[in-house]
Amino acid sequence: MTLDATIIGAFMQRRRLFSRLSRAAALIAWQQLFAPGARAQGDAMGEAAWRASEDVFTLGVASGEPRHDSVVLWTRLAPRPLETGGGMPPRAVEVTWDVAEDAEFGRIVRSGIAVAGPDSAHSVHVEVPDLRPDQVYFYRFRAGGQLSPTGRTRTAPHPLQSPQRLRVAMASCQHFEYGHFTGHREIAQADVDLVLFMGDYIYETPVASRQRVRRHARRFVHFNLDEYRIHHASYKLDADLRASHAAHPWLMIWDDHEVFNDYAGDFNRDVTNREDFLRVRTAAYRAYFEHLPISPNRAPVGPRMAMQARFQWGDLADFWLLDGRQFRSHPVCRNTWHSLRRGNLLWDCAEVNTSERTVLGLDQEAWLAQGLAGSMGQWKFVVQPTQISPSAIHTRLGPLLYADCWDAFPAARERLLEAIAQPRVPDVVCLGGDVHRHVAARLRRHPGDPASPVIASEITVTSMTSPGLSELLTGWMMSSNPDIVHARSDQRGYAILDITPERIDCEFRGMPHPALPKSQLRTQARCVIERGVAGPRKVLA
Ligand code: FE
Ligand code: CA
Repeated sequence: MTLDATIIGAFMQRRRLFSRLSRAAALIAWQQLFAPGARAQGDAMGEAAWRASEDVFTLGVASGEPRHDSVVLWTRLAPRPLETGGGMPPRAVEVTWDVAEDAEFGRIVRSGIAVAGPDSAHSVHVEVPDLRPDQVYFYRFRAGGQLSPTGRTRTAPHPLQSPQRLRVAMASCQHFEYGHFTGHREIAQADVDLVLFMGDYIYETPVASRQRVRRHARRFVHFNLDEYRIHHASYKLDADLRASHAAHPWLMIWDDHEVFNDYAGDFNRDVTNREDFLRVRTAAYRAYFEHLPISPNRAPVGPRMAMQARFQWGDLADFWLLDGRQFRSHPVCRNTWHSLRRGNLLWDCAEVNTSERTVLGLDQEAWLAQGLAGSMGQWKFVVQPTQISPSAIHTRLGPLLYADCWDAFPAARERLLEAIAQPRVPDVVCLGGDVHRHVAARLRRHPGDPASPVIASEITVTSMTSPGLSELLTGWMMSSNPDIVHARSDQRGYAILDITPERIDCEFRGMPHPALPKSQLRTQARCVIERGVAGPRKVLA
């Protein structure tokens, strides 16, 4: 071992020790705050005196991030959710929580007290430790003398367990004004273990009145914390969305509309001053965290939030949740004759080929590549917001690309596919959203080259409500890209992945656009991915 390596080794050891110590310190602080001993503190905060006269659980309950021994529980107290402060007193209050093995709470296994304060919009994020693996649990909260609705959740199997099945519902892109969350109503009833949300949980922009099915409660004017909070709260007032959260644990990634259309890193074309945009991003990230079942360890700090995370489901499935926005390179060829629709579509733009351009950022790329190479999971799911396989429409002027998907980042896509193509990384399935169509596609080592080997499969879920391309353009896109096995843009819905050690059955569920409360979802198509065979195969519905 060289001297350098020794020093670095000692340094790493110390760093690990420090991070263990600071985690222990944080845990002690956490326990002091939330343990039964904290009651006196709660009384000092005036909790004993606080009795809510209106329903405080208007936004429902949610759970997420299931691990083999823990799960995150969420709620937010908001008797008047569309008002600044949510109608809560401007002070911290106590919220008790219970986790039980039965829906009647006869067998409570964990309980505790959390503190909900105005700094976090009276939201509660509890990471419940020491749970049993592969177990269904029920949870509820109590605050202001009221009891919340009951949520149902579950833990993942232990990483050394070999589960025979995992069922996942995938959803994305739920613009409130374009339609109803009818798909969520079905997901809430579905026999699934978890919901994977692929991004565009809220949309910050209104839609034209002729396309509008219902209205956002408020319009954004200042893009400040108050507005993002009210906007998130207004989405949660939808009963179908609340039901979907209460029924299953969620794993989530974000895309652009959680902050601002098409933003990339610290850049946005509508808020051109960087400092101003980072203020918007800070507010948006914070409100996002406050309204979703995300671990308190990942709470945002200023304009940064740790979105990337890895989750395991026994040895059956490994999930990498990726952040495709925070570290993304700035858009190119805007305001040139190579761009259409304000830079949304590009053709013949040489700058897209720059090797430094990235969707994930170099650190996250390396983290993913390392994780994939070391994974023992039978299936490896790369969870990211958009379509990876080529979707450019071939015209006489050359390919016309959508600037927000991986077509506009060919060097980064090469690096991603190189990591996937390593001989020890079989059975990779890339999952995406954003393009508002169901897609099943083959991923080749070199996209678009029919001589290049197929190395992975891709499943992209259609939107819950947001409109897609016309069927004419979708057909044109498919004939330009023969590796697309299935694509349909005219239906809204969600997808179910039925995962077993031998194969994945993907069912694309769809209903006509726009999604209305009485719309019927039907099976649009089915695809199968077999273990050891890269690329999905379409089967008759
Ligand atoms: Fe979208
Ligand atoms: Ca998007």
